[in-house]
Amino acid sequence: MNNFISGGQAVFDFMPGFVAILDGPSHTFTYVNEAYRDVAGRRDFIGRTVQEVFPELEGQGFFGLLDEVYRTGTPYAARSTPIELDRDDGSRFIDFLYNPIRNDAGNITGIFVGGYDTTDARRAEERWRILANFSERLRLAESADDLPYEAAEVLGKALNVSRVGYGTIDDPAATLFVDKDFAQQGIVSLAGATPLLNYGSFIESLRRGEFVAIEDVRLDPRTSMAAEALESKSARSFVNVPVLERGKLVAVLFVNDADVRHWRADELELIKEVAERTRTALERERDIKARQLTESRYRTLFDAIDVGFCIIELKFDADNRAIDYRLEEINPAFARQTALEDAAGKWVSEAAPGLERHWFDLYGSVAQTGEAIRFENFAGVLGDGRWYEVHAFSAGNLGANRVAVLFNDITARKVAEEQLRELNATLEASVIERTAERNQVWTLSQDMFARANLQGTMSAVSPGWTRVLGWQEAELLSRPYATFMHKEDMEPTLTALATMGETGQATRFQNRISTSDGEWKWIEWTVVPEADGQNFIAVGRDLSDVKAREGELAVAQEALRQSQKMEAVGQLTGGLAHDFNNIVAGISGSLEMMSTRLAQGRVSDIDRYLTGAAGAAKRAAGLTQRLLAFSRRQTLEPKPTNVNSLVNGMLDLINRSVGPEIHVDTASAAALWTTFVDAGQLESALLNLCINARDAMPDGGKLTIETSNTWMDERTAVQHAMAPGQYISLSVSDTGIGMSAEVIERAFDPFFTTKPIGQGTGLGLSMVYGFAGQSGGAVRIYSELGSGTTVCIYLPRHEGDVVADGVDTTAGEASRAESGETVLLVDDEPLVRMIAGEALEELGYHVIEAGEGATALKVLNSDQSIDLLVTDVGLPGRINGRQLADAARVARRELKVLFITGYAENAVLNHGHLDPGMHVLTKPFQMEVFARRVKQLISGKS
Ligand code: ADP
Ligand code: MG
Repeated sequence: MNNFISGGQAVFDFMPGFVAILDGPSHTFTYVNEAYRDVAGRRDFIGRTVQEVFPELEGQGFFGLLDEVYRTGTPYAARSTPIELDRDDGSRFIDFLYNPIRNDAGNITGIFVGGYDTTDARRAEERWRILANFSERLRLAESADDLPYEAAEVLGKALNVSRVGYGTIDDPAATLFVDKDFAQQGIVSLAGATPLLNYGSFIESLRRGEFVAIEDVRLDPRTSMAAEALESKSARSFVNVPVLERGKLVAVLFVNDADVRHWRADELELIKEVAERTRTALERERDIKARQLTESRYRTLFDAIDVGFCIIELKFDADNRAIDYRLEEINPAFARQTALEDAAGKWVSEAAPGLERHWFDLYGSVAQTGEAIRFENFAGVLGDGRWYEVHAFSAGNLGANRVAVLFNDITARKVAEEQLRELNATLEASVIERTAERNQVWTLSQDMFARANLQGTMSAVSPGWTRVLGWQEAELLSRPYATFMHKEDMEPTLTALATMGETGQATRFQNRISTSDGEWKWIEWTVVPEADGQNFIAVGRDLSDVKAREGELAVAQEALRQSQKMEAVGQLTGGLAHDFNNIVAGISGSLEMMSTRLAQGRVSDIDRYLTGAAGAAKRAAGLTQRLLAFSRRQTLEPKPTNVNSLVNGMLDLINRSVGPEIHVDTASAAALWTTFVDAGQLESALLNLCINARDAMPDGGKLTIETSNTWMDERTAVQHAMAPGQYISLSVSDTGIGMSAEVIERAFDPFFTTKPIGQGTGLGLSMVYGFAGQSGGAVRIYSELGSGTTVCIYLPRHEGDVVADGVDTTAGEASRAESGETVLLVDDEPLVRMIAGEALEELGYHVIEAGEGATALKVLNSDQSIDLLVTDVGLPGRINGRQLADAARVARRELKVLFITGYAENAVLNHGHLDPGMHVLTKPFQMEVFARRVKQLISGKS
């Protein structure tokens, strides 16, 4: 080991270049650095000669060079020298230096070897050169069809492999189609179709877009089973690069070699790069082809159509006014239609000098605003006096100041139109003698004629207008016609006119037109458009008579409805008669018995019959009450009512009525709205529902009474078949047997019952139904067989306060009059008058009786003091009870009135909306109730 080395060895160890020290004439290794080992591979160096270490270098000239340097002492250096080392990645290239080492005496003792492995750099350079060359070939290729072969040849030569090709893949069948591949001498071509599935499973990798490189098909698991087949095709090793489009395998670049081959990274890089460039080039070619195809299609169309077409580029002056344009592109039809030849590329100022100004303005505006226009015009200069229909537009891709123009010669059509106009004129002339006749129709007809326009005014009206409506001609012509229409008819009328304008079709409609004295008249109009699309002729017919007939028809229909109702009433009466017979039998029987007993002097027995008769009479009263409720003719006395407190007041009674087996629950809405109802009737309805619930739960159960505020919007209202608005609801739910759909449907019918004879009257729900309806609300049943029933009464919300109920229903004995107040009692039924009068006198009142309104009025008009007027509503003679009360109040403002009425007099009593101080009591009534009511009124508690 010599000095030169000893201190510096560490420096060499990690140098990027390779370094070795050879000793003596036989070049024995005394040192090699890491880089040297990298290049040379695994070997033993130290103490061995160059020839021993590198037997493969024999014959490559390196040994001779070393001898020479050792002998002559002249250093030797060389660049990019090929060297075949025993490595599996092919030949390498090195830059190297042999430098003699001398001892202190100046004698040569060894050789310093240093240098660089430049293989990678050279290969990169080579790859670049190949690719550059390839790109050039792609660029020069005459057709896309040649591209795959160019790629194959470049790669085949660069890699020195057996075969290279680029083929398309039909993926479902996994078949490779190759047009022409590159193959070395003696190697079969793969041109044609090759089913890849015969050659292993690597197609799966390709489908996933994976690059496949196989060194030895016998060893790779993807090909070992097909090794024989592959080898028979000279593919002991291969590389495949997949080409995917939208995730589908469409082509493969394949590189095959007949021998086992270790694919170097730089080779794989090259293959990939070539495949990628081929793909891009093919794609570009395809795009170009497609574009050419569409272009040629458009060109064909452009040339073939009969419509003139040109693209013009406009020139503007400093004021932005178009002053000229260049005919950039024109089609053959353009030339034909304009009689301009060879105009393409020319400025119109030279091709058609003196062209009318309007053409420039029109096209200029299209270019400037971007808005397409369509017009018909007369082309003097350009078109030799012909007519054109022109459509000009600026398309975004045309470029600035460019406008596309389509036009068509419509001269023939124009001529035809002109002829038609002339023909019309002659026709006009030939019918002129008939005008007089027409004028007569215009002046004398009952109908109204007018000529009007779509802008809203009339230019002529016939005298019929004044006859029907009373307006003078001047007024009619000076006001827009819409101002004569009823507000509600305005929109449909104007719509009808607009439609007529658009379609050019005559049409008919009706509307209300005001008369000069402020009335409305229904008019039926027929309107016919004139040819100009602006004016129309209107003929109007007064429908007053027709409408009157319609009114009569409505009356007739109502009568029919009434007669149908009567039929229902007939059925009802049948049932009623039966019930009443029983009751009357009870009463008359009792009376008979009483007179018998009286005759016998057995007065003590009378009580029993009295009670019996009274009970029967009560039942009769209850029955009629329910009937009247159903017929909605009962006399309601509605008041603002809080239903929650009404329910609370009823709970005791309800509990007693349903019995201990049934648990009664309430759920009351907080802040429940007020409703305007007859509280007594509502109580009775509630009780009816609770009784029904009890009947539905023979084995006991739960009954829930619930109140709530309900807002019916349009939709829910429709669902409930009710008017939209605010309601309160009172519902009674049970856990009973429920109702079938058929029963629900009939449940509201009077006398419909499913209960055994004697138990059900079938009038409960019908009463509730009538009452709810009459109160402006509704009742609905929600039920299913076996799962209980909810019956819900909806009542409209009342905006206002609850007034304290003046009627004290729990008061006991009617108290006597205090100071002989006077009651005027009016009833045409002597029996009622007698009994009521006696009852009042009994109480200490002074009673004046009257059998009809006129008699009563006389009393009222006298100065007789009267504290209370009790009157029947239906009275014989000219005035009814209501009118009597009103008349009485003219002189006696504060006079209190109690109407006693059977039924059907709601209208007379203003549907319960009575003036203060007026009250109603429904007949029949118990005398005791009557007396109490009178007392309350007189004492001013109500
Ligand atoms: P009635 O109770 O006298 O039979 P309604 O008019 O009150 O007459 O009822 C008519 C019918 O509707 C009843 O017979 C019964 O079939 C049915 N119904 C009424 N309420 C209920 C309920 N809560 N559960 C089951 N069915 C009912
Ligand atoms: Mg019932």
